[in-house]
Amino acid sequence: MHNVVIIGSGCAGLTAAIYAARANLKPMVLDGHEPGGQLSLTTHVENFPGFPDGILGPELIENMRKQAAKFGSEFKAGTVTEVDLSSRPFKITAGKDTYEARALIVAAGASARLLGLKGERELIGHGVSTCATCDGYFFRNKPIAVVGGGDSAMEEASFLSRYASRVYLIHRRDEFRASKIMIDRAKANEKVEFVVPYVVDEIFAPDGMVTGVRVRNTANGQPREIPLDGVFVAIGHDPNTIIFRGKLEMDQNGYLIVRHGTLTGVPGVFVAGDVQDHRYRQAVTAAGSGCMAAIDAEKFLEAHKD
Ligand code: NAP
Repeated sequence: MHNVVIIGSGCAGLTAAIYAARANLKPMVLDGHEPGGQLSLTTHVENFPGFPDGILGPELIENMRKQAAKFGSEFKAGTVTEVDLSSRPFKITAGKDTYEARALIVAAGASARLLGLKGERELIGHGVSTCATCDGYFFRNKPIAVVGGGDSAMEEASFLSRYASRVYLIHRRDEFRASKIMIDRAKANEKVEFVVPYVVDEIFAPDGMVTGVRVRNTANGQPREIPLDGVFVAIGHDPNTIIFRGKLEMDQNGYLIVRHGTLTGVPGVFVAGDVQDHRYRQAVTAAGSGCMAAIDAEKFLEAHKD
């Protein structure tokens, strides 16, 4: 029986662990399918307060993990497959193991969306990427594509132009969700070619490495083949909330709904980080809400000493 189980080991989960551990609650952190969360997939983080020269994302997250462990947090690898929140103690199942918890903090994060093309997932690390900052360096002097029309796509196209010989910005509409300044910046970049309105129908990888894409004009159906070495998918994120369907309140996009900070409709279940935040999505806001969730869990346990 654990006082607090924390689902997720990104910035929110680890901050919750630091606070819960310092409150002597000996929290148990379940790592999840992307240990370290999205910070572990980035390179330089320049906007986390306290690091005037920036810090590498993996280093920042490793520091948080050490800090949480130092105060007595326990860690278990594994992805949560089922939760029973119908009564306390809650039951959290990860594969063959089931844990019982008096309080639960959900900090399961959000994961990058994929296009849903055949072979796409298997090609991650072989030419397909969801993280420009992690993988851009591998595409020096090579042509690549960025797919998407939001700020992420514009930002990644501009960023990747530092390395790539050419960046095809492929977007399914003539209009963009991205802010004007980000679009203007990408358009002013002579290495970036806008391929709109096009969708990607196929990623070519005859020998297991990306060699090109076939795209289709959504207005007139015309196909076009573009030889390239990398495809950066920047089409947004999905919250990791499938296991909470019907158990915790969520919005139409699957983001968990919180009230008064981190509270849910189930007393004793608290939520932190990107799993409930499609607006700010910052490391520092995730950390802040992780802190809030731990304080809320501590107060809840104090009031329910059963
Ligand atoms: P987003 O704003 O949701 O944009 C996702 C883009 O991907 C949209 O253009 C969408 O097309 C496209 N898309 C979605 N599913 C697709 C599919 N299956 N196939 C092809 N295209 C698809 O996501 P985001 O760009 O990751 O941004 C998320 C949030 O973070 C936003 O609030 C953004 O402002 C913020 N952000 C800010 C910055 C910055 O200011 N520096 C940088 C990055 C992100 P449609 O438009 O046709 O739906």
